[in-house]
Amino acid sequence: MIAWEKNIRRVTPYTPGEQPDCPNMIKLNTNENPYPPAPGVTKALQELDAGRLRRYPDPAAGMLVQALADYYGVAKEQVFVGVGSDDVLAMSFLTFFNSGKPVLFPDITYSFYDVWAELFGIPYECPKLNDEFQIRTEDYIRECGGIVIPNPNAPTGIEKNLEELEEVIAANPEVIVIIDEAYIDFGGTSALSLLPKYENLLVVQTFSKSRSLAGMRIGFAIGNERLIGYLNDAKYSFNSYTMSAAALAAGTEAIKDDTYFRETLQKIINTREWTKKELRRLGFSCLDSKSNFIFASHPKRPARELFEALKQADIYVRYFNKPRINNYLRISIGTDQEMVGLIHFLERYLGENV
Ligand SMILES: *Cc1c(COP(=O)(O)O)cnc(C)c1O
Repeated sequence: MIAWEKNIRRVTPYTPGEQPDCPNMIKLNTNENPYPPAPGVTKALQELDAGRLRRYPDPAAGMLVQALADYYGVAKEQVFVGVGSDDVLAMSFLTFFNSGKPVLFPDITYSFYDVWAELFGIPYECPKLNDEFQIRTEDYIRECGGIVIPNPNAPTGIEKNLEELEEVIAANPEVIVIIDEAYIDFGGTSALSLLPKYENLLVVQTFSKSRSLAGMRIGFAIGNERLIGYLNDAKYSFNSYTMSAAALAAGTEAIKDDTYFRETLQKIINTREWTKKELRRLGFSCLDSKSNFIFASHPKRPARELFEALKQADIYVRYFNKPRINNYLRISIGTDQEMVGLIHFLERYLGENV
């Protein structure tokens, strides 16, 4: 070890899905939306005045915060925005998990949570999902330093119903409960309706999946004014200007076009249900996904082998080499045409390799 290395903060980073860029690939590995953002977003970006970029953006992101507050029917003091929900979640870990007691999140879940906990030195424990990959309510009713529940969970896609979530929130008034709703728009029921009842609840969502803006990096949290106030104090102690002028303009337009939003969501949901049926026809078992991806396993062919074979054909899906889930593929929902491509490949491959 070099002398100065002993004073370095060392972390094992999160591994994002790869971003290959080949012309005819079918990219179903990072849960991106297959459709472009709302037309108003394109227009706003085309009209962005480069001359104005010499100025700092609004540190309070007022335009975007107001659009979100109007859309979700809350006060603007209840809304916090960040550079993707990864930024919002990281700030929340830093701000709210400060008791020294372990924070709880599932053993199989978004693999960024433990990375932030490690980075910030927050103790954590990971209750095991049950054999059906469901989050067990009783595991989260105990003394702890905070709770993070993704709903629907990733990479399973399984939704936890609101009654059970409310039980967890109500049983933990002394800590903050974060519900990570990255996939809620694809058919789940949001915990936003519980906000008037619980001061310890923070709901986090993103523009990356349902609003087709992964490349713009916009996420947000909604909670009571006091909670959001503490989050802003931490943000202003770290980086005041998180949201670029482009992100503010694009995000605001995306929120305004509800018709386009609902149309693309419905298309993705329809495609998801079609793909599930087709995968089952080919012998796969699929978990009951309420998200824009399907977690699937084949009884005869190992997931790793299918993952490699698909990759050879320029079809990218996600494979996690981790205990309990190492025989599953996580397949994002693309366009109908892309999913037909996937099914045709699997049909041929499985036909030739049984
Ligand atoms: C994609 C995802 C996020 C974060 O996405 P951003 O692009 O940073 O908004 C957060 N949580 C879960 C569970 C996700 O799948």
